[in-house]
Amino acid sequence: MNIPFVSLNLMHKEIETEMLDTVKRVYEKGWFIQGEENKLFEEEFAQYCGAGYCVGCGSGLDALYLILKAMGIGDGDEVIIPSHTFIATALAVSYVGARPVFVEPEIQFYNINPLLIEEKITKNTKAIIAVHLYGQCANMNLICKIADRYGIKVIEDAAQAHGSTFNGKKAGTLGYAAAFSFYPGKNLGALGDGGAVVTDDKELADRIRIIANYGSDVKYRHVCQGNNSRLDELQASVLRIKLKNLERWNDNRRKIAKKYLSGIKNDKVVLPEEYHKNKHVWHIFAIRCKEREKLEKYLKKNGIMTARHYPIPIHMQKAYNSLGARQGDFPLAELISETELSLPMYYGLEENVDDIITVINQFS
Ligand SMILES: *Cc1c(COP(=O)(O)O)cnc(C)c1O
Repeated sequence: MNIPFVSLNLMHKEIETEMLDTVKRVYEKGWFIQGEENKLFEEEFAQYCGAGYCVGCGSGLDALYLILKAMGIGDGDEVIIPSHTFIATALAVSYVGARPVFVEPEIQFYNINPLLIEEKITKNTKAIIAVHLYGQCANMNLICKIADRYGIKVIEDAAQAHGSTFNGKKAGTLGYAAAFSFYPGKNLGALGDGGAVVTDDKELADRIRIIANYGSDVKYRHVCQGNNSRLDELQASVLRIKLKNLERWNDNRRKIAKKYLSGIKNDKVVLPEEYHKNKHVWHIFAIRCKEREKLEKYLKKNGIMTARHYPIPIHMQKAYNSLGARQGDFPLAELISETELSLPMYYGLEENVDDIITVINQFS
């Protein structure tokens, strides 16, 4: 066997003609920033999510940063985030000058534990970023209820959750504003970096558009000190094609996950759980194993590549020394970083899943 951890091959093969045609079309048109393709993608993605507005931007990290900035969050403020997430969630908070405050996950779902949020709220708390990690929405009912009680806003980090739902509602419509990433390996990925903010608040969307375009509302008039973070025409045009296929590709991931969940039977392996109100889109299929390194090597020897998401928790990263956190401060985040293993998961994997399961079940 020779199974990569992730492959875009089948996806890209299916849409190759369309993709190359659109690249040629944009190339010949010769308009590369802030044009028709971005405008149409924003409309189509907002409609797909069921949200009022979408603003394309340069990356998922930028999308988070732009939301916080446009909300006026900054120096002296605190933003609650999960202790177990990709570092971008924390970096966005730091970039605006606020402080990330970590809350431990519910380990079976890997998402922030709503019951542990309230004790971390202070007079400086301005927002909660709920990350829909690995493709499954956080428990937004409970999180929003707590936030409402304190008059703070909930932001979704939906970078891994395009198309996933909670109580039948899509990621991107479950909080005040949502950040998406179109990094190539995400469920909806561009051919480079890209991101978007989705929200129902028109004023927020307008402010974000201005900040992301040098703080400019009218050409060469600058109302604030913005930056440059835009979704370019080539990326927008290929995302429009991929968006049309997203539901089908996500359904295929769900089929693969279902096979893994019913087929893997090994006492040494803990499987991920899907919360009953959720439709998981399985960006990552995360198992846990006490003997992770041994399992990793065993799978590699059998031609099955895996990955770790993520090997060092944020509070233990050198980049966050300044928070003064120590080993043991967030035991669940640490446990996940020590035991989590991501199995191959991508459109096109289906025919190999049974073989992968057989290999895992023989691990001893
Ligand atoms: C990928 C990711 C981001 C950042 O997205 P980029 O487009 O890579 O900047 C943020 N949060 C989470 C949870 C992610 O997985």
